[in-house]
Amino acid sequence: MRLRHKPWAQDLLNQHPEYVVQNAEQYKGNWQERFGNHHPIYIEVGSGKGRFITEMAKTYPDINFIAIELQTSVIVSILEIQLDIHLPNLQILHTNGSHLNQYFDQADISRIYLNFSDPWPKKKHTKRRLTSPAFLEQYQAIITANGEIHFKTDNQGLFEYSLASMSQYGMILKEVWLDLHQSDFEGNIETEYEMKFAEKGHRIYRLEAYFPN
Ligand code: SAM
Repeated sequence: MRLRHKPWAQDLLNQHPEYVVQNAEQYKGNWQERFGNHHPIYIEVGSGKGRFITEMAKTYPDINFIAIELQTSVIVSILEIQLDIHLPNLQILHTNGSHLNQYFDQADISRIYLNFSDPWPKKKHTKRRLTSPAFLEQYQAIITANGEIHFKTDNQGLFEYSLASMSQYGMILKEVWLDLHQSDFEGNIETEYEMKFAEKGHRIYRLEAYFPN
C-alpha cells in the first residue's frame, strides 16, 4: 500500500470513538455490547482503505463487521467512508492483527476475511504473512466452530504458501478458486487491490477454509 502521509489522520481517528474502537480489550467476549445486538461478527484483517468491508456491511446489515488495519494513514480512509454512510454494523479497529486474542475471545468471531494480504516473498519474512502458523493460531483462538476464513489474492506464491500452511496446520480447505473472475462465483465484492490487479489482467485466487472441531 503506497502511503501518503496524513498528519491529521490520528486526530480524526481520536475524534470518532463511536466508530473507531478504543480500548478494545474491554469488549473481549462481549462485542454484543458494542454493536447493541447479537448478530454474528465478521472481521477483515488488513482492510486497507475499506472498499470491501464497507460494501459488505452495506450488503449484509444483519452481520456486524470489524475492519482491522495497522496503518494510520490508510485506516483513516475507512473512517472517512463511514462518516459519509454511518453504518451501524461497522466498527474500525486500529491495530496489528498479530495479537487478536487480546481483543476477542473464543467464538467472538464468525468469519475472517484476508484480502490481498502483503505477500512478504522473502523467506526471512515468512512470519509476517497473514496465513503463517502464528496468525492461524490467533484466528483459531477467536473463531466459532466451523467459522470460515476467506482469502483472496492475485499473488500465486502467497496463495500456494497459504494452501500449504493451512493444510499443514490441519485446516479443512472447503473450496478453492484458481481464477475467481472467470468462475461462476456470485456476489464477489471487489477490494481496491482486486480492482487494480484485475484491470491489469492478473488472475485472482480465492479460498475458503475452516478449522476442524
Ligand atoms: N485488503 C485491501 C485490498 O485488498 O485492497 C488492502 C490490501 S494491502 C496490500 C494490505 C493491507 O494490510 C495494508 O493496508 C497493510 O497495512 C495491512 N496489514 C498488513 N499487515 C497487517 C497486520 N499484521 N495487521 C493489520 N493490517 C495489516
